[in-house]
Amino acid sequence: MMLVDVHCHLTDGAMRATLADVIKNAKESGVAVIVTSGLGYEDCLKALEISDYRMIFPSFGIMPYELEGYESVLNLIEKNAKRIVAIGEVGLDFHISVRSNKELQRKVFKEFIDLSLSLDLPLIVHSRSAGKHALEMLVECGAKDAIMHAFDGSASHSLIGIERGYFFSIPPSVVRSVQKQKLVKKIPLDNILLESDSPALSPVPGEVNLPSNVRISAEAVSRIKCIPLEKVEEVTTENAMRVLRIRA
Ligand SMILES: [Zn+2]
Repeated sequence: MMLVDVHCHLTDGAMRATLADVIKNAKESGVAVIVTSGLGYEDCLKALEISDYRMIFPSFGIMPYELEGYESVLNLIEKNAKRIVAIGEVGLDFHISVRSNKELQRKVFKEFIDLSLSLDLPLIVHSRSAGKHALEMLVECGAKDAIMHAFDGSASHSLIGIERGYFFSIPPSVVRSVQKQKLVKKIPLDNILLESDSPALSPVPGEVNLPSNVRISAEAVSRIKCIPLEKVEEVTTENAMRVLRIRA
């Protein structure tokens, strides 16, 4: 059996020094594929550098509240369209702590959505405190393949995405989030993927999260939906390989 971590940040300082161990540990836990998402120009180059296209695959994006230099990320995506498996994370962040301009966020998100369509690449979408807004923009812009990462919106809003065939990737923090548990209950297994978002969203608050913890996400999905773990592994892996166009 194998698991896919569709979204994490292996280039983050919290993991970089121990990267070899992190990957070994993921392999031993049954993780066969990891998508590492670069955030901003320099980090995207690092993500490319550590990708081996057997287990580690890169995606290029930028945090919606740190958009300085986003044009260079758009260019980098175009130049490396054949070397990346997704555009992301990109999206909207309307959290109260974020002071960045919402209109600018929308404008830039639209540019990334348009690019995903012209390059035929899936999007990994960040939508903190903006789940409904992000989903509505994706639908409006006609986005084809979208992975809603760590979606924090309501289960009823997720329907907008489910109808469109979008995916929702479930992080290990599901074990301590009632909102994510409700989401898992609502979303059909055919629309579910697994992510770690490591080093963030650990099952234990304050701990450094690791890609091996996607197993914890898989077990939670199995428990919440009363579906055998093997079935959860099989379907989420199939979903991930299909949307990311990775051949086993
Ligand atoms: Zn992330």
